[in-house]
Amino acid sequence: MPYPQKITFGEMRAMGVRGVLVYCRHRCGHHTEISADGWADHVRLSDIEPRFLCQRCCKRGAEIRPNHNPAKMGTGSR
Ligand SMILES: [Zn+2]
Repeated sequence: MPYPQKITFGEMRAMGVRGVLVYCRHRCGHHTEISADGWADHVRLSDIEPRFLCQRCCKRGAEIRPNHNPAKMGTGSR
C-alpha cells in the first residue's frame, strides 16, 4: 500500500492544529492522539507514517491525520 503525500507539520500548524491522530493501518482498531510539537515544519505527515509501530498488533505503518478537536486540552474542569 502506498503512502499518499500529505501536508507538512508547518502547514498544519498554520491551520491552528497542534496535534495529530495516529491510526493503525492494519485494521486492528488501535489509534492514539499525539502532540505535533516534536516534528519540524518541513516534515510531511506521510513522511513519518511508515515509521510507526503499532502497540497492539506490533505491525509497522500508520495513517496520520490532523487532530482538529483535541480532547485533552481543556481548562482543567472535571
Ligand atoms: Zn495495529
